Amino acid sequence: MSSTVSTPISFDYPLQDSAGLTCTAQAWAKVPPHLAGPEKAAVIERIKQLLIEKDAALVAHYYVDGDIQDLALATGGFVADSLEMARFGKNHSAKNLIVAGVRFMGETAKILSPEKRIFMPDLEATCSLDLGCDTNDFAKFRAQYPDRVVVVYANTSAAVKAQADWMVTSSCALAIVHQLKVEGKKILWAPDRHLGRYIQEQTGADMLLWNGACIVHDEFKAAELEILKAAHPNAQILVHPESPQAVVDLADVVGSTSAMIKAVVEGTAAEYIVATDKGILHRMRQLAPNKKLIEAPTAGNSATCKSCAHCPWMAMNGLQGILDCLENASGEIFVDEPIRTQALGCIERMLDFTANHPDLLAKAQHGFVKNIGAA
Ligand code: SF4
Repeated sequence: MSSTVSTPISFDYPLQDSAGLTCTAQAWAKVPPHLAGPEKAAVIERIKQLLIEKDAALVAHYYVDGDIQDLALATGGFVADSLEMARFGKNHSAKNLIVAGVRFMGETAKILSPEKRIFMPDLEATCSLDLGCDTNDFAKFRAQYPDRVVVVYANTSAAVKAQADWMVTSSCALAIVHQLKVEGKKILWAPDRHLGRYIQEQTGADMLLWNGACIVHDEFKAAELEILKAAHPNAQILVHPESPQAVVDLADVVGSTSAMIKAVVEGTAAEYIVATDKGILHRMRQLAPNKKLIEAPTAGNSATCKSCAHCPWMAMNGLQGILDCLENASGEIFVDEPIRTQALGCIERMLDFTANHPDLLAKAQHGFVKNIGAA
């Protein structure tokens, strides 16, 4: 019989507005001004020119500013979730990669492509899941359960990945954990407690969960979502599984960013309530211009809004930062070689699994998406 055991460890990222570059107030303070008009056009042209001159490619996450997403696509780069960003960066022939996202994405690119130089618009762009999973604390936790397979989410540091057997993203976590369960493995999971709980529920795997959370998804509110749904009874509710259980339970579709975009593009509904970072709406609007997209609520009577559905660290990515990478070689990512080689195994295992088992991925994805026929 499978069981989920929440660990007694509580390492949530503290949300207080204390000093320090990792707190959300400091992150918001570092969000660059939005460029406009001729100034913006000039910076974009210069970036385009330098990407060619420096043999560089721009890879962006769905949560970063729409201008950056557009620039990535216009220059032969890529906009994707973290799984496909990793794969694209590894396979691309460019000598230099500019990764517009958060730090663990740049580290993953460096781990996979040590021969490339990897740059980020702001090296202080991090993630509450990464911050909430300290390397040494995780090592102690892991040491208590040597019989368990260690599965970590992509949103962790290179040093935590170096301690893992598998890395997963929300696109493939369900398929991989399901396969591990079939093989009779017990799992130690970190760091997102909501995603871990959801995967456990879906697979029935025996999982021990680290107690981390994403500050963006953790704030979606079930009570307000029900009110919104009552006002839009025909809307489909799309929820990222980093959200709390009460929010996931209201979803028509639960899935990764890619799965949510697919649900909007291929779905027959005219309206969608979207519970993930609002940066994703840019790409959704481009791919499904006739669909009405509504942001899921983080405000209302039960609100404790720290992010308001937008990640402050993702927001730190700006056009000027990209230009600085190209002009001044600023924001380069380095990973110590012993850590890099240790972390490589868990990432390659994931990439090999997803490349070699499209059937299992599709099957798991079908399970991951509730009521897909109606979406
Ligand atoms: S949205 Fe959440 S999971 Fe993604 S980078 Fe920001 S804090 Fe981390």
